Amino acid sequence: MIAKEIQATPRAEVLDGRTAADAIKQEVAAAVAALKAEHGVSPRLAAVLVGEDPASAVYVRNKIRACEEVGIASQHVPLPASTSTQELLFVVDNLNRDAAVDGILVQLPLPIQIHDATIIEAIDPAKDVDAFHPLNVGLLAMGRPRFVPCTPAGIIELLDRNKIEIAGANACVVGRSQIVGRPIAALLLQRHATVTVCHSKTRDLPAVTSQADILIAAIGRAAFIRGDFIKAGATVIDVGVNKVTDADQAREFFGNDASRRIEAIEKRGYTLVGDVHPVEADLVAGKRTPVPGGVGLLTVAMLMRNTLQAAKWRRGV
Ligand code: NAP
Repeated sequence: MIAKEIQATPRAEVLDGRTAADAIKQEVAAAVAALKAEHGVSPRLAAVLVGEDPASAVYVRNKIRACEEVGIASQHVPLPASTSTQELLFVVDNLNRDAAVDGILVQLPLPIQIHDATIIEAIDPAKDVDAFHPLNVGLLAMGRPRFVPCTPAGIIELLDRNKIEIAGANACVVGRSQIVGRPIAALLLQRHATVTVCHSKTRDLPAVTSQADILIAAIGRAAFIRGDFIKAGATVIDVGVNKVTDADQAREFFGNDASRRIEAIEKRGYTLVGDVHPVEADLVAGKRTPVPGGVGLLTVAMLMRNTLQAAKWRRGV
């Protein structure tokens, strides 16, 4: 009877981000130690946080903690929410000139009065570990990537480390942002997938997404990708991070796993869900990433790798 029930409720295999992220961080830690021992070089990351947005503060804290884990030196540069574009340009310029700094990240989003494109373009492309500078974006678009944005780079690592064939696969990316949708589409194309990019104007989205062997959702809408968007057996990568505050919604999204999610809502006011409906995806997909515990962890691990790479390139070792 029990065996029958299990058969009747298939579950997609979970692609665990933590295992891949831990492995990448261990590799980076070993390379950082070797760099110090053999060349006396200590990679350093500067993380600029403007204002007190709680989510941004958590992201910066996680990045600094990851630096500590892998032996990369870090400097946190907190600035008041009232900082102007000119003041932030001055800070970025100093970090560009500081020979001890290998990587610069300016946590986004920036307060409304700051022109973010001006700031991104001011970062030395050789220290641009987030890979948002037009030079690095252009190199990636040309199929000659130097720095690759951390979330898309992490997705490719996750696919590779789980031996998911990219070449020849039909890959569909939902979302065309500069930080996720566009660069992951470029990377998948470079790896010989047949890539379709969807967005808010795409007609009959489920008809397009359900053709994909690899479906990447980077939309920012809770559980938007339903079962009928997914091809049977597909690999589904869920980039979205959305807050759920309603217990009934949590029940609908998480099914049998809902109780600990509802506990989280009661305790801290919310639980997280991705852009993919977890219960429905489990019934159709072959593999899927969880939220939390999926792509987000890889983003931080890839930032560590980009910082290590920046130190090696810049110092010629
Ligand atoms: P974004 O800049 O807001 O872009 C969202 C994209 O989704 C846009 O291209 C938009 O289309 C598309 N979209 C919106 N509604 C749609 C609809 N109904 N049908 C089809 N496409 C639709 O978002 P983002 O920065 O890429 O982030 C996406 C999600 O990923 C967010 O939840 C974010 O928090 C999360 N994220 C996670 C990580 C991580 O490390 N885990 C990193 C970055 C982002 P248009 O272009 O037509 O408007």
